[in-house]
Amino acid sequence: MVHWSPFMVSFKKRYPWVQLAGHAGNFQAGDYGKLLKRYCECEQQCLQKLMADPLRPFVPGYYGVVQRDEQDYNLMDDLLADFDSPSIMDCKMGSRTYLEEELVKARERPQLRRDMYEKMVEVDPTAPTAEERDQQGVLKPRYMQWRETLSSTATLGFRIEGIKKADGTCNTSFKKTKHREQVKAALEDFVDRNPQILKSYLQRLKELRMVLEKSEFFRTHEVVGSSLLFVHEETGQAQVWMIDFGKTVPLPPPRTLDHRTPWVEGNREDGYLWGLDNLIDILMDMLPG
Ligand code: ATP
Ligand code: MG
Ligand code: MG
Repeated sequence: MVHWSPFMVSFKKRYPWVQLAGHAGNFQAGDYGKLLKRYCECEQQCLQKLMADPLRPFVPGYYGVVQRDEQDYNLMDDLLADFDSPSIMDCKMGSRTYLEEELVKARERPQLRRDMYEKMVEVDPTAPTAEERDQQGVLKPRYMQWRETLSSTATLGFRIEGIKKADGTCNTSFKKTKHREQVKAALEDFVDRNPQILKSYLQRLKELRMVLEKSEFFRTHEVVGSSLLFVHEETGQAQVWMIDFGKTVPLPPPRTLDHRTPWVEGNREDGYLWGLDNLIDILMDMLPG
């Protein structure tokens, strides 16, 4: 028989959960500081392998697949659970955000896309070539590659996806934040020019870089569309984790990547470490003195 005593109640604090990217319906709150993310086999495979990799301290703890209302979910740690009033930033890492296999697929049955041409003109009327203007259409692979040049993805190897600050302000419109100085200004605002927070982030990112350089998982995977989630508290507590492995795929053995060599189609390089080098460099630039 179970005896309920008031002292056994878990006083798990309530906190407003914040999602900076993805579809709103993809996440559900779990119990005890855990989170459910809509099941994706690729992500499940990655999280499982990461639990036995030196990267484990840099990813949310993973607890397997669970079902809720007939939908499968991956169960993982809610990284916000230990914060009271966090500021949060999602940085999507890498110099491209589509997989090589997506590019190959986009080339099957090539079709001129009017909708993509129109989106292109809307953002930048000078973007289409003379030929594309004549045809009033672009091919999908061309569109995919053009889109990467709008943000800092192609030029810095990462882009800011969203920032939500402790004061409630939220910005998810960084799609055209491209130049180093623009990115730096956004990062400066995010850390409120607090050198302690900046130092904590830098220390954590440098540790992460060291571990990435020796991780077997990282060496053997194309890591695309994955983010670094930054979380800090005004008190100075600051953490960074790797999240989102829905497009992180194993390479056929014995292939490996160094994640810094520029991408040319076929080499599968993703620019992840190059982007992290640039991110660390920009944050170092922000240190006072
Ligand atoms: P997309 O592929 O469009 O980026 P997605 O559906 O794959 O989206 P994620 O990128 O994994 O979703 O997560 C979206 C947002 O949810 C993140 O930016 C972050 O704000 C929040 N989030 C994701 N995982 C966690 C976690 N383990 N703990 C806390 N917050 C999380
Ligand atoms: Mg994401
Ligand atoms: Mg994703």
